Amino acid sequence: MYRTHDCGSLRLDDINQNVTLSGWVQKSRNKGFIVWVDLRDRYGITQLVFDEKRSPNNVFEIAQSIGREFVIQVKGLVIERESTNSAISTGAIEVLVNELNILNESITPPFTLEDNTDGGEELRMQYRYLDLRRNSVKEKLIFRSKISMEVRNYLTSAGFIDVETPFLIKSTPEGARDFVVPSRMNSGEFYALPQSPQTFKQLLMIGGLDKYFQIVKCFRDEDLRADRQPEFTQIDCEMAFVEQEDILNQFEGLTRHLIKEITGIEIERFPKISYEEAMKKYGNDKPDIRFDMLFGELNDLAKGKGFSIFDCEELVAGIAVPDAAAYTRKEIDGLIDWVKRPQIGAKGLVWVKCNNDGTYKSSVDRFFNETQIASWAERTGAKSGDLILIISGETKTARKQLSALRMELAERLNLRDPKVFAPLWITDFPLLEWDEETQCYNAMHHPFTAPKPEQIDLLKTDPINVKANAYDLVLNGNEIGGGSIRIHNQKLQSEIFALLGFSKKEAKEQFGFLMNAFEYGAPPHGGIAFGLDRLVAILGGEETIRDFIAFPKNNSGRDVMIDAPSTLSETQLEELSLKKLPNIK
Ligand code: ASP
Repeated sequence: MYRTHDCGSLRLDDINQNVTLSGWVQKSRNKGFIVWVDLRDRYGITQLVFDEKRSPNNVFEIAQSIGREFVIQVKGLVIERESTNSAISTGAIEVLVNELNILNESITPPFTLEDNTDGGEELRMQYRYLDLRRNSVKEKLIFRSKISMEVRNYLTSAGFIDVETPFLIKSTPEGARDFVVPSRMNSGEFYALPQSPQTFKQLLMIGGLDKYFQIVKCFRDEDLRADRQPEFTQIDCEMAFVEQEDILNQFEGLTRHLIKEITGIEIERFPKISYEEAMKKYGNDKPDIRFDMLFGELNDLAKGKGFSIFDCEELVAGIAVPDAAAYTRKEIDGLIDWVKRPQIGAKGLVWVKCNNDGTYKSSVDRFFNETQIASWAERTGAKSGDLILIISGETKTARKQLSALRMELAERLNLRDPKVFAPLWITDFPLLEWDEETQCYNAMHHPFTAPKPEQIDLLKTDPINVKANAYDLVLNGNEIGGGSIRIHNQKLQSEIFALLGFSKKEAKEQFGFLMNAFEYGAPPHGGIAFGLDRLVAILGGEETIRDFIAFPKNNSGRDVMIDAPSTLSETQLEELSLKKLPNIK
C-alpha cells in the first residue's frame, strides 16, 4: 500500500501512529545531523524528519540524496513538532521517518513549484504538468470541478437529461469559422467540429427529450482575441414547450444557485433590460452594473448653442465620474490622451467640474452658461464633487468610446470589485445585422433564432428592425450566457435563410436535415448556453480563463506543451487525400 494517509490529513490526534505517506519532495533542508523534507501531494504538505540518531542509518543516508520533486514513499511515526507551523493544516505534527523508498527521481524542474513561482507564462505552459502541482493552479481546477458538479446536480434535479452529441459533424454556424477534419474513408470530404451542438439540441427537442443539457467542448476557428480559446466549454441547454420567461426563470435559478453555493451571496431577481436600453445607457450590450456612471444623452441640451464640436455630431453623451471634480488639469489631460489613443480613437473630451459649492467649471465655459451646464449635470446624474466627461460623434462610435472610458475609470477608481456579483439579462436583440463586406444580413445570434412573435410580419418590410426572441446573461461586464427561442416552423426558417443570403439549394444542402425534421411535429422550443470557462473564472474572482483550463492554448492557438498544431507525415497526407500544399510545413 502506497499510503495510509494523504499529506494534508495528519493532526495532533494522530500522534504515535505509524503511517505511510507518498508524495513529491517540495524542498529539503539538511543540517548535517538532521534533514527536514516537505512532502507534498494534492491534499497538502507534511513535514518529514530524518534524524541521524533516531532514523535507521541507511534511511538517513539516502535522505541526504533526495532532490526537489523526487517521488518518495515513507513509513514513520507521527510526532509533535517543537514549533507549530500555522501556515499549513498539518503544522502541529511531523513524521519521524524509519523507512524511505524512492519511487522515482526527478531532474531539477525549470521553475520553482511554489505559490510564487519564478516561471514565466510560456515556460509554465510548456511544463503545464509541473505548473499543475502548484496550489494556485490546482485549486482552480478543483474549483472548476466543483462548479461543474453543482451544475450537473442542479439541472439533473430539475429534470434535465445529459445527452452527448457528436463532434464529427457538418458545419453549425455560430459566426466563426469551422475547424475541419478530413475523412480518410470518404476521400475529399470533411467533417466540421461543432461550434456548438445547436442543431443537435434542437433535434433532441423534436425527438421528445424535453429538457436537455450537456457540458460540452465547442470549437471556433476565430482570430484569437486576448483570453479566447479555440476550444472552450459550454453548459449547453435546451427545453421544449417554453417561452422566453420560462428559460430566463430556469437559468436565473441555476445562476443564483451557483453564486450562492460558491460565494454565499444571495441575489434577488436579476434585472432585465433591452439591448436598446443597454446601448443607450452603457454603450455596450454587456454592461458592468456594479457601478453607475450611466450615460446621459445631451443632444437636446447641448446642440444648437454654437459649439461646433457638438453641433455637427450625431450624439453628445456624458458620464458623471464620482468624486472626480478635484482632478488636476494634468489628470484630466491624461484622460484626454487616453481617449485619443488609436485603440479608442476619440477626438477629445469635454469636461465639467461640479464644484462642492454648487458652481461649475468646464472646458466649454465660453459657449455655455451655468444654467445650461447645470442641466447636463442633472441629465448625467452628477452630484457636487463629480466630474462630467462628454464625448460627441457618430452614435455607434461615440457610445463605444464612452463605454471604454467608463470601464477604464471604473478600473482606476476600483469600482470593479471581484467579490461583488451583478448579473442582468439583456433581451430584444436585433435579429439581423447588415454586413457591409458581403452586402448581406447576418444573424446576430444564429440563424435558428426566432423573431419576436409580434414582429414576424416586419420581416418582409423592414428586416433590420425586427427584434429577436433572444437573450444574454451578463455578469460583471461579461456575457456568460446567451440563447433564444428557436424557429420551429419550416416556412419561417426558409424565409430567414433567404434573408441571410442562402439560396434554396444551399439551405437544403446545409440544413436539409433540420428543415425536414421541422415537418414531423417540431415542438416550440428554446435554450441557452453558458460559457463555463468564463463563468468559473468570474465566480473565482479572476479575469483570465486560462488558469481554469487544465491544458489551455496560447494566444496563437498553440498548445506549446505537446506542440500542436503540427505537420502530418506524407503517408498520412496521402491517406487523407490531402495534397501537400506549399504552405504546409
Ligand atoms: N448555440 C448558442 C451559442 O453557442 C447558444 C444557444 O442559442 O443556445 O451561443
